[in-house]
This record gives sequence, C-alpha cells and structure tokens, in this order.
Amino acid sequence: MSSNNPLLANIDTIKGVGPKIALHLEKLGLEKIQDLLFHLPLRYQDRTRVYPLSSVRHGQEVLIEGQVDHCSILFKQRRMMICQLSDESSGSITLRFFHFSNAQKLSFSTGTWLRCFGEIHQGFNSLEIVHPEYKIINKNTPLELADSLTPTYPSTKGLQQRTLRRLNSEAIKRITYLDEIFPESLREQYKLMTLAEALVALHQPTPESSVEQLLSTSHPAQQRLIFEELIAHHLSLRKFREYSRKVNGITLSSNDTLNQKLLKSLPFELTGAQQRVINELKHDMQQPWPMSRLVQGDVGSGKTLVAAAAALTAIEAGYQVALMVPTEILAEQHLKSFMQWFKPLGLRVDLLSGRQKAAERRNSIENITLGLTNLAIGTHALFQDSVKFQKLGLLIIDEQHRFGVHQRLALREKGKQGDLYPHQLVMTATPIPRTLAMTAYADMDYSVIDELPPGRTPVKTVVIPNIRRDDIVQRINTVCQQGAQVYWVCTLIEESDALQCQNAEETLVLLQESLPELNIGLVHGRMTALEKETTMQSFKAAELHLLVATTVIEVGVDVPNASLMIIENAERLGLAQLHQLRGRVGRGTAASSCVLMYQSPLSQIARKRLDALRSSNDGFEIARIDLEIRGPGEVFGTRQTGELQFRIADLLRDQHLLPSIQAAAEVIIKQYPDRIQPLIERWIKTAENYVHA
Ligand code: ADP
Ligand code: MG
Repeated sequence: MSSNNPLLANIDTIKGVGPKIALHLEKLGLEKIQDLLFHLPLRYQDRTRVYPLSSVRHGQEVLIEGQVDHCSILFKQRRMMICQLSDESSGSITLRFFHFSNAQKLSFSTGTWLRCFGEIHQGFNSLEIVHPEYKIINKNTPLELADSLTPTYPSTKGLQQRTLRRLNSEAIKRITYLDEIFPESLREQYKLMTLAEALVALHQPTPESSVEQLLSTSHPAQQRLIFEELIAHHLSLRKFREYSRKVNGITLSSNDTLNQKLLKSLPFELTGAQQRVINELKHDMQQPWPMSRLVQGDVGSGKTLVAAAAALTAIEAGYQVALMVPTEILAEQHLKSFMQWFKPLGLRVDLLSGRQKAAERRNSIENITLGLTNLAIGTHALFQDSVKFQKLGLLIIDEQHRFGVHQRLALREKGKQGDLYPHQLVMTATPIPRTLAMTAYADMDYSVIDELPPGRTPVKTVVIPNIRRDDIVQRINTVCQQGAQVYWVCTLIEESDALQCQNAEETLVLLQESLPELNIGLVHGRMTALEKETTMQSFKAAELHLLVATTVIEVGVDVPNASLMIIENAERLGLAQLHQLRGRVGRGTAASSCVLMYQSPLSQIARKRLDALRSSNDGFEIARIDLEIRGPGEVFGTRQTGELQFRIADLLRDQHLLPSIQAAAEVIIKQYPDRIQPLIERWIKTAENYVHA
C-alpha cells in the first residue's frame, strides 16, 4: 500500500471538515478517509415507495399517504393532538402529536392529504405513528420519491446524518484505491463480491436493491462483509491461541491423591461426562503451555465438581487456584460447597468479595499473598491490584457469559507469574452450538458435559395467567406442607434495579399475608452480602419454605430440595434467561415443576417462547428454538452470543456461515499467511486485537 493512497489521508483533508466535525468523527473512531467506508449503515429508511395503509404493520418504518378524516385535541395524561388518516386501500392510521401548534391543528383540516414518514406502532385501538415527519401534499400532483434506500449511520450527538452521508460519498469516490486483501481464489469459491462492490452497494444502494434483503442483513453485499469480518475475528483468535501456546505454562502433575479422597467423600459417582471432561482438563494442565479450555454444560450438569477436580490437581502440585464468579450470591454458595469438600482434605478456602467487611477482606488478601490460601473464591474483586497471589496455577471462571473476552485476557495477564501463565478454565451453561463455539472461542479448547446426573426427572413446566395467582398460592402451600421448598421469582425488566427490589418486597408482604404458616425469605440485589448470604443459607438449610427473589438467583444457585419455581411475568424474559432460572429446580431427585405466570394478553412471540419452555428441558434445543423464533435479522443480545463486538456480523444469526469461515481461514493460514495481519487490522480495533491484548 503506497503512502500516497488517498484513502489513507485524514478525514479533515476533505473540504468542509473543520476541527468541530473532526472531533465528532474521532468519537466514532473515524480518522482516515478509509474508515468512513467501514462505518456501515445501522439501518436503512425506505422512502422509495408509499405503502397502502391497509398493508402496514407494527414496527415498520414507512412512507404513507392519507387523507385527514378528523383531527382533535385530547386531554389524557397530557395534552395531545390526534389525527385520523385513511386512504384508498380502506386502511386507516392515527397520528399522535404531543407538541403542536394551533397553526398545525388548523392545517390538518378534514380532506387534507398528508405524506408521512415514521415508525408504525400498535396503539390502543389502531395502528399509529407518534410525531411523524409529514408534508401536506396535493393528491393530484404527486411528490417525487427517493430512488434508493437512505442509509442511517451510527452517529454521535451534534453530528448530522446529512454530514455523514456527504463525507461517505467523498470516500466512495476514492474507492478504487481500496486494497482487496481477501484472496481472489476464495472469493470465487464462495461466490463473493469484491470488497469495493460490496461497500458501494451498502452505502449507496441502487433502486433495484432488495429492501427486504438489506433490512434483514441478507443482501449479498452484507454477506460479503460478514464473511470477511468473521474470518478476521477467527484469525485473530487463532493467532492469539497460537501465541499463547508459545508462552510458558506450568506443567502440573499430581498423584491424584486429593481427587481420590474427594470422590470417596461424595454420596454419588461422577457421571461419564464429568469424568471425561476432568481427564481432558488434567491432560491440558500437564502440558508446558497454559491450558485455555471452555467447558459447557447445561444447568445442573455438575460443573462445580469438575472445577473442584481441576482445582485439586493444581493444589496437589503445590499451586493456588482462583475461582471467579459473576455474583456475590454465587461466590458465597461456592464458598460453602468448596469448604465442605476441601476442608476435610486439610485445604484452606478464602472468600474475596466486594462487600466483605474490611477486616475479613484484609485477612483474605493476606492469606492469598502469603500463599496460605489454596483456593480463593470471589467476584472480580479477586483481580484488583492489591491482590497478589503467591503462586497461582489455575484460574477458573464460572458462568463465563457475564465476563467479556477482554476481561478474560486481562485476567490471564494479571495472573502471570514471572514468565509463567496460569492455566485457565472457563465454564458456562449457555448452550453454544459446536461450530459457533469453535469460532467465537477459537482461542480456547472446548469440552461439553453432555449428560445430567442420574435420577433427575425433567422439570414439568406449565404456563398460567396471572389471574390464577390464588390457585398457585394454594399449590405452594401444599408443596411446602410436604416438605419441599419453593422459589418465587419477581421480574421487572426495563425498570430500575430499585423498582425491581421494591416489587420483590411487596410480593413478599402479599405472600406472607396469604401463607401465614410458611417461613418466607427474600433476596434481591440491593441487600448487603451478609443479608443475602444469611437468607440463602437458611433457605439451603430448609429453615425457609419459600424464597422470594429477583433474577439475582438466575445463575448457579443450588438448593436440591427446592422443587417448585414460580416465575412472575415470565413473558418479559428471554428464553435463555428463563431456562437458566428454571435450572434452579429439578436438581434433586424429587419431581419438580416450574410455573410460568404471565400477564394477558400474550404476544405471539411470547407465547411461542413459553411454549418452547413447556415442551423442552434441553438447553441446546431451547437455544435452537430461540433462534428460530427470533429469525435472522433480529439483533441478538450480547448475553447470548458471548461478547464479541462485531460491526456487521452476528454469531448466532450468521451461524450457517461458520463452517465455511473455518475452512476459508485454514486456506488463508496455509496459503496466504501475509494476509492475516492486514485482515485483522482492518476489522478489529486495537482494543479488541487480542494478539496485542
Ligand atoms: P451446574 O453445572 O449447573 O453448575 P452444579 O455443579 O451446581 O451444576 O451441580 C448441580 C447439583 O448436582 C449439585 O447439587 C451437585 O452436588 C449435584 N451433582 C453433581 N455431580 C453429580 C453426580 N455425578 N451425581 C449426582 N449429583 C451430582
Ligand atoms: Mg454452576
């Protein structure tokens, strides 16, 4: 690439870009003109056609035309102007304005034609648009329509779309200078457009481009970029993996004495899957490079014990182990399990959590530093600067979907002792299809615990409207009289944490009134660690019959005697989260049930979700249905996909490409090794460039 490539000039060399605009652009990570090309439209507005009113649906952003039937000012909670439109398709729609002038009201006289653009919402009685862009038109002399889709770019306050569009067209003018890094042979094999063609098609879609394709990210131009971006990420992770195999790890070997002792003390045998994964971990830790392994197992598959076995291997070889978890509740629960398992073996387990008392905390830190601690359990508090392990051999991260890639890599650096890196074990219950795991976590090896401990009966799930609450309360009473325990989960999403806790407190009061004979406890995110721990422990000790909780109990909590779970307003939660929550029951041998309560009316999607849970207990199957219900084109939450930040790709949505991505990456590694670094640099910002992490 020659240095006088005009695409590599700074954006401020474009006419009209002063320091103020340059500053905004910098915020978006745009410096060179070429960066503009990779600043992809977030979405498109379709102003190329007018939709008949009878055809529009909730959620569409469309151009419509209609005649004013009537227009009035209402006083509901606020003053508002409501305007009813209809067209020849005998469709109608409501326009709703909260800010309006008298002149506006007068101009909307009956019979006037309007052209509007905006997002359609399902209102109380009819479809509506709130504050549409609008123009009064003369039906006999139609206005012009845009001849291509209008891109909308990610922007920042003070920077107009108009400016971004103009700068972008300047960049497109220089596109012949763009370097094609992707090998031509692969491009032909996978029938991909050139990079330049793809970028032009996305920034300046032609009138012929399929609107549907662009909006659902299935346009060939988008597929071309997704392909290249996924390859760049995959190569970057592969490179990181290669690099981490070159660094020095600690060869851990043990006689397995501690493990044998632990197994003897357990009231059950390991499952075949647990045994297999434990062997894989032991094998990894004997290598002279640091282990980096992802262990995936559905809720209740017994991951904790697998972690314990790995920990004992490291401890027996004379090293310390750190176990990091995403929540305080989980840290405290693990502390209890591990104390119970490790104390009889003469080992020391310490807790380090953000909400500990200062003295306890100091004590733990001291033990860790002196090397007295064999196993330290904690939240991210474990990795503050003040904590220095004397001899860290293994780092275990539980329920990894709460931690990002960067955190994972940063931890690894932090755990470094001299030039030795600790082994790393990451555990997750999020079901990840194999191909996806191999791409998203290509820096790690991958194992699955694909078997549940014997004797578990699947959780029976029922879906019941909120109005049958009294029946449910009655059922709780019966279940508790029989000696089992119950969770009541309160959900309130999109509301503040404070509201969620308040809601749980109110539910507690109501339940206490209707179930005076039961002992009922409460845990929520705003309680102190001590309060939560005390409550959890009495629930575990069966002193409480019923535990009212917010979704803080979602991950990891283990009380096998709890056999009934009620989830209030289940329709508000996603499938993966519901599956996790439900995993809190069905952990013992008793038949368990889960009651999904919902507020009517249920949307179609919500009904499908609840039905999926009713019909399956298998995390993989549920993940598959989730994908099907959402369909491609919907943006997935990062909690499910892991945490990779993509510009255009989406691991779940684009799963079908992954086998080709892996194959193409192999070809690049073997035949075009000099393309690897440029590809990574093109797609991955320095912060995410794992090799330099
Ligand atoms: P998760 O994989 O969800 O983290 P846990 O490790 O919390 O699951 O284990 C769930 C429950 O199963 C715990 O009560 C644990 O003691 C128990 N358990 C683990 N392994 C076995 C086994 N092999 N046989 C029977 N019970 C087991
Ligand atoms: Mg767990």
